[in-house]
Amino acid sequence: MATNENKSNKNANQPPRQQPRLYHDLMTPEEVIGIREEVRNFCEEYLAPVAWDIGHREESVEAFPFQLLKQMADAGLFRIPFAAEVGGRGLKHRATATAIVIEELSYFSNSVAAIYDVHCILAGHALEWASPELQKQYLAPLLAGEKIGSFATSEPLASTDLSVESLVTDATFYDNYIEINGHKRWITNSPVASFVVLLCRDGERMTEVVVDLDAPGVTVGPPDKKLGNHGQLTADILFDRVRVPLGNVVGQRGEGLKIALQVLTYGRIGIAASGVGMAQSVFDHSVERLKTRRVFGKPLATQQHWQFRLAERAMGIENARNLYLKAALRMDDGVMFPEPEAAMAKWYATNLASEFAREGIQIFGGYGFTKELAYDGSHYHVEEVYRDCKIAEIYEGANEVQMWVVARNIFGKEITG
Ligand SMILES: Cc1cc2nc3c(=O)[nH]c(=O)nc-3n(C[C@H](O)[C@H](O)[C@H](O)COP(=O)(O)OP(=O)(O)OC[C@H]3O[C@@H](n4cnc5c(N)ncnc54)[C@H](O)[C@@H]3O)c2cc1C
Repeated sequence: MATNENKSNKNANQPPRQQPRLYHDLMTPEEVIGIREEVRNFCEEYLAPVAWDIGHREESVEAFPFQLLKQMADAGLFRIPFAAEVGGRGLKHRATATAIVIEELSYFSNSVAAIYDVHCILAGHALEWASPELQKQYLAPLLAGEKIGSFATSEPLASTDLSVESLVTDATFYDNYIEINGHKRWITNSPVASFVVLLCRDGERMTEVVVDLDAPGVTVGPPDKKLGNHGQLTADILFDRVRVPLGNVVGQRGEGLKIALQVLTYGRIGIAASGVGMAQSVFDHSVERLKTRRVFGKPLATQQHWQFRLAERAMGIENARNLYLKAALRMDDGVMFPEPEAAMAKWYATNLASEFAREGIQIFGGYGFTKELAYDGSHYHVEEVYRDCKIAEIYEGANEVQMWVVARNIFGKEITG
C-alpha cells in the first residue's frame, strides 16, 4: 500500500489525499508502489505549483511547459516505461508503472498526463518496434528528454476509421528513399516535437515511418485552441513530397496498422489511468469542500444526499483503478492486446471522470464554475477537470469503440464486425 497517507501537502490548495486511506492496493507490485510514491513526490514538488497556469494559458508554443518536461526528464520519469536495453529503468512491470505515472500526473494536470502519454506510450512505445539504429536516433533522446515525440494516425477525414481506404497520408517507396505526402490532424506535441511516428498508406497495406518535423516539405500548423487540456498542444501536419530514408520504417513494411493498434491499446490503459487521476482529484477536493463548506449552520457533508453521492464515487474509483491495473498487469504479462480489460477500463474510468466532474462543479457551486475569482484570485481544480475530462472519452479510441471491443469479446467478430 502507498505510504503517503500522512504526508503533509506542500501546496496550500491541496486537499488531504483520500486514496491511501480508502484504496487497499493488493494488486500493484512492490516496485510499482515505489514508483507511485516517487512520482507523487515529484508532482507535489514540481507539478502542483505550475499546474493551474499550464491548464489556463491559451495554447501556444511559448506557453508549453518546457521547464517541467526538463524536470521530468532529469527525474528519470521518461525512463520508467522502458527496458534497460534501450536505456529505460528496466522495471518488470513497466506498463503498470507507466499507467500509475499517468494517474499521478493527471491528478494535478491532465494536460501534462497527455503530453507524457503521447511522448512515452504512443511515440516511445511505437519505437520499441524499430531497428536499433532508429532507436539510437530517436528513442534514446526521447528518454533523455532531448527530443519530444509525437505519433500520428488521425487525419481530417479519418480517425476512428483507420482503414486503408480512408487514409490519405501515403508512403511511396523508391530505391533510395520513401516519399511521404498527406495530412494529419490534432497531433499532440507536434508544435514542439522533433519527430513524428506516422501511420501511412503503403499500397493496400499500412506502414509506420518516423519523420523529422524539420524535414523539407513538412509543415506543422499553429496549435489548436481547445475546450480543455490547454497545456497539451495539438496541430495539423502537412507532408508535401517529404523524403525519408528507407531505414526509417518502424517494424516491417505492411505491419503499420498492427503496430498502431497495439500502441493505442497501451495508450487506452494510460487514458483510463488519467480518468482515475482526474476522478480521484475531484473526489479529494469534494470531500474537503463538503466537510468545510457550511450550509444552514452545518457542513455540507452532513447532507445524506452528498454522503451517498461520494460513497458511489468511491466505489467507481475503486472499480476504475482495479480495471486499469488489471489491464496493465496483463500487458506486463506479455498480452499485447489485454482485452476486454483495456477497453473496459478506458470506457469506465473516463466516463466516471466526466460524470463526476459535472458533480464536482455542483458541489463547489458558483466557485466551481469560476475560472478565477476576481476578488481574490482564488480558483478550484474541479473547473479545470470539467473542461479536461471530456477529451478522454474521445481520444485513443472513442468510448463507443471501447463498447464495440467489449461487445466483440462477448459475441465474436463475425457478429459485431
Ligand atoms: C486533444 C486531442 C489530442 C489528440 N491527439 C492525437 C494524437 O496525438 N495523434 C492522433 O493521431 N490523433 C490525435 N487526436 C485525434 C483523436 O484520436 C480523434 O479525435 C479521435 O480518434 C476521434 O476521431 P474523430 O475526432 O475524427 O471523430 P470521428 O471518427 O468522426 O467520430 C466522431 C464520433 O463518432 C462516434 N463513433 C465513431 N465510430 C463509432 C462507432 N463505430 N459506433 C458508434 N459511434 C461511433 C464517436 O462518438 C466519436 O466520438 C487528438 C484529438 C484531440 C482533440
